[in-house]
Amino acid sequence: MAEVTKSQYPLDDISRLPEKYGSVPIFFENTGYFIPEKLRDKIFALETKSKSNPNNDILLCYHQAEGGATPENKEIEGVMKRILSNHMAQTKLQRKIEVVQISSITVKDAIIKELKNRDNAEKQRASTNSDNNDTKKQSEFAESFLEEAMRLKASDLHIETLGSSNKAVVRLRIHKELIDLKTITIEEAQSLGQTFYATFPRAIEEDQEKGSGSGIYKHENLLDGEFSRVLEKSGKSMKARLVNIGLNHNGQFNLVLRLIDRSVPQVAVPYSKKGFTPEACEMLKTLHTASRGMVLVIGITGSGKSSTIQNMIQQERDRCGNSRKIYLLEQPIEQTISRVTQINSDDSHDSGEVKNSEQDYSFSNLNRMLMRGDPDSIGYGEIRDNLTAKSAVQGGESGHLVYGTMHVDSAMGVFSRFETFGISLEKICRNDFLKLVMFQHLIPTTCPHCSIPYDGENIPMQFGEFHALKSFKTEDGRPLDMMNIISHKSKLKEGESLIRSLQRKNFFKSKDAMKMKRHIEAMNESSDTIGFKQRLDALIRSSTLPKEKINIRFKGDGCPKCQEQGTNGVVPACEILIPDETFLGFIQSRRWGRAEAHWKSKLLGRRAVQDTYARILSGMLDPRVVEKELAQLGS
Ligand SMILES: [Zn+2]
Repeated sequence: MAEVTKSQYPLDDISRLPEKYGSVPIFFENTGYFIPEKLRDKIFALETKSKSNPNNDILLCYHQAEGGATPENKEIEGVMKRILSNHMAQTKLQRKIEVVQISSITVKDAIIKELKNRDNAEKQRASTNSDNNDTKKQSEFAESFLEEAMRLKASDLHIETLGSSNKAVVRLRIHKELIDLKTITIEEAQSLGQTFYATFPRAIEEDQEKGSGSGIYKHENLLDGEFSRVLEKSGKSMKARLVNIGLNHNGQFNLVLRLIDRSVPQVAVPYSKKGFTPEACEMLKTLHTASRGMVLVIGITGSGKSSTIQNMIQQERDRCGNSRKIYLLEQPIEQTISRVTQINSDDSHDSGEVKNSEQDYSFSNLNRMLMRGDPDSIGYGEIRDNLTAKSAVQGGESGHLVYGTMHVDSAMGVFSRFETFGISLEKICRNDFLKLVMFQHLIPTTCPHCSIPYDGENIPMQFGEFHALKSFKTEDGRPLDMMNIISHKSKLKEGESLIRSLQRKNFFKSKDAMKMKRHIEAMNESSDTIGFKQRLDALIRSSTLPKEKINIRFKGDGCPKCQEQGTNGVVPACEILIPDETFLGFIQSRRWGRAEAHWKSKLLGRRAVQDTYARILSGMLDPRVVEKELAQLGS
């Protein structure tokens, strides 16, 4: 909106202003000559002239040499108002009358000043409106990424600034690997941060849910928060926990969202549907008869331990027809599970601070309360220190079925871990206490549409052209626009070189193409192809499958069917320990080797890497990916 200036609105043109400002300014330069009839004439004249909206307000300005609330001025004001009221009563117009007295400045300046004020007020209104519009636009922008992430079943969304380029990249973790989704400007990245950190959580607080929206997003700081949201387009219910890491230089930052799909119905899923092998499913049947003791699911971060525990608990609930009281301590609660009492535990109180016990959701206090809460089963979440270990063991000892997770990388490792948490081997090895220990690790499955079959002779290159392009930077240091490259890649003819084709389309210079080819060679040279082929061939020889049933496949360079990932999901590889008396005897006397041998020979024990062999031979898992995730084949 244009500023009101003197030149734009000379005194003579004041009568034109009503059209623009919706109020009728009437001015009298010198009320010393104030004549009521003249005022009336003026109003009529203005209305005829401007044909303004009859419901416009009237701004009446009058000038008096002697300013202020003198008796004379008050009288003038009174007369003016009376005349206007009468006029309005006669014409049946609904106007608001404003009488403004002007003293030391000229009428023209005063009117301009007043109109400027109104102009500013209007601008402010407009900008509040456009702020709202901006917020709406920003929300839509942010939602578009969440929609895409949920559609692709991404577990995390990353926003990373790209050094000095004034750009940022939005990335998704799908099937354990990060892919670049989109390059955005740094302003857009900050707006996403603002939306995820402040706007979305605020929206929740209004819905009386827990949020962290009171904070102000400062991208250069270290922040964490969470929000839940029902996405507008897909109607998907999701939750996100976020962390913002300011990098402490150049205003660079990383914002990472852990995404939880809450629209997935919370029902017990059979282990086979979760991708466990038939052998694992068979062993997990032990749980059907367990009503006390301890069940442990172990693995590293992101191995799906918590989701397995939740599934186990739901199976117990369904199996027992809701006849058991199940508590689940979580931090935080990710999914609501019906007929399970989920409690948000808060370990910030375990610091020894004295807290009001009514508000004390610390682990130790909760455990004390739970014991009196008539439990049958308790899920303890992660056993990570002396306190949680002691609580879980106590729970199991007092005749309940307890579930826990532990950050250990093998089933045999839990015993020494308990010792470091101050629990004696004797306690853990008491007969009938430890029901089942399962180590699990998620392995990406190979996309059948772009995977490369093993011909028995040549191991395909581990790093293809597309892989190299992802990390490539041109001579002038700029990363390639992967979105563009992906769309180009999908149009590629079979057998055509992606790099050559991109070079022809001027994505980069021939010099860059050469550099990239050398880069690919170097990457592939460093991989141990000979040793790997020997291990793979040994696996094939040891298989009892007929030759024509063996179909080993390597992860390909990606296709539209797998979002250019080369992988299309994840399955767990696991090792399961169901200890017997003999095994526990070996452990108690610290004969680890004997214990492991007994586990393997008598207790159907096998390492997680062995759990993948059948799936490698059927082409579901890439043997090279298995080695990267777990251990060498045959180990
Ligand atoms: Zn594919």
